[in-house]
Amino acid sequence: MQQSRPPSNEHPTWDRRQDPAAPRTTKQQFLQRIKQEYFLDILRARAHSEHFRHTRAQYISNRARSIAFILALLIPAWIAIDAAYLPRQQLQVIALMRLVTGGACLLLGLWSAQSHRLWISRFKLALLVLIPSVFQTAAYLYLVASPLTSIPAGYHFFPFLIITLGAIFPLTILEGGHLAAFVVALYVGTAHYLGEMFTLHTLNDIWLLVLLALVAGWASLTQLTMLMRLYRQANRDPLTGLANRRSLMTFLKREAEHCQSQEVALSVMLFDLDKFKRVNDQYGHAVGDKVLKAFSKLAVEQSRQEDLVGRFGGEEFLMILHNTPLAGAQRIGERLRQACMNESIEVEGGEPFSFTTSIGIAQLQPEESLEQLLKRVDEALYAAKRGGRNRIALA
Ligand code: GH3
Ligand code: MG
Ligand code: MG
Repeated sequence: MQQSRPPSNEHPTWDRRQDPAAPRTTKQQFLQRIKQEYFLDILRARAHSEHFRHTRAQYISNRARSIAFILALLIPAWIAIDAAYLPRQQLQVIALMRLVTGGACLLLGLWSAQSHRLWISRFKLALLVLIPSVFQTAAYLYLVASPLTSIPAGYHFFPFLIITLGAIFPLTILEGGHLAAFVVALYVGTAHYLGEMFTLHTLNDIWLLVLLALVAGWASLTQLTMLMRLYRQANRDPLTGLANRRSLMTFLKREAEHCQSQEVALSVMLFDLDKFKRVNDQYGHAVGDKVLKAFSKLAVEQSRQEDLVGRFGGEEFLMILHNTPLAGAQRIGERLRQACMNESIEVEGGEPFSFTTSIGIAQLQPEESLEQLLKRVDEALYAAKRGGRNRIALA
């Protein structure tokens, strides 16, 4: 149980901001919520839901791949320019460096493993920054040590190019900060090594690097908040704030592939509120909506961080339980069933009432398709209804 899990801005959970019946908050509570829901979301990925993490990881991975392919072409292509300015001996060394760097970028672009894992996407992004940075530093140091009177154009602006790369990705403040810190530190380290640290030229460059880092960081954060907003609109159910059906299906497909390939258990739980038509008929649609929101809140409270619960249809909800066999799912289902019975829905001018839910649970089989799994869990739910409602049936 994790009753105290902070509600994340993009997390498809219960959303108080959409509930006009929620009690008024004090200024302090309001500021606390802003801090939790907005600032923490752009500060670090830890505040994001598992599902949003996957979405962002894929986004970062795809962009890193595209840029890696572009660099794989452009870095070796610059040999043609070098040929016009560099003596033969330096040209050979630099051309070799460019070919090796281009090859490394090509390999990075071709690497498509597990692009929905955030740490892998971050690793790809780190390599995307590291590979050209290593090339630039090595080439620059080599050219400075050679008896050339001036270093050809293209070598000075590399750190600026790398730092602006950050603008292309939807990064959190910490991720963007790490990227910028690395590029600036490498520049400072190189200048220090060459004894050029306190020249006007170097200080100018550092000032410009920091300025560009701020602009790139701003663009990066704008991308992140835009992605969050679009993600919310496309994946959330507006009434309950939970994941919608489309989001559930995307997540389930991904989880099923992962669990089947890794031979890890995956269970799904389907809920249908009992006699819900009667609630609507007796108390009105607005109270019906209140029950749906109350159920959503309980479902989020009873689920774990790695699970996803969403609205599957009218008063049907689906919970996807990561790394959980049937028995584990049954325990969570039982807790939620009890919580519904203990819930008290307030109605104006009437007695508070509670509600119940019937639950079907199924565990994904090794060769099973999603259609088969959903059919089985639906049949289990139907069996729970037939068995008298307010109960769990296992598929
Ligand atoms: P059972 O125990 O067999 O499930 O009975 P039931 O009355 O719940 O039957 P059924 O599942 O067919 O009824 C679903 C009802 O849910 C019908 C519809 O009016 C209501 N409903 C669906 N979406 C919403 C919604 O967004 N708000 C409200 N208030 N009611 C909804
Ligand atoms: Mg129904
Ligand atoms: Mg029902």
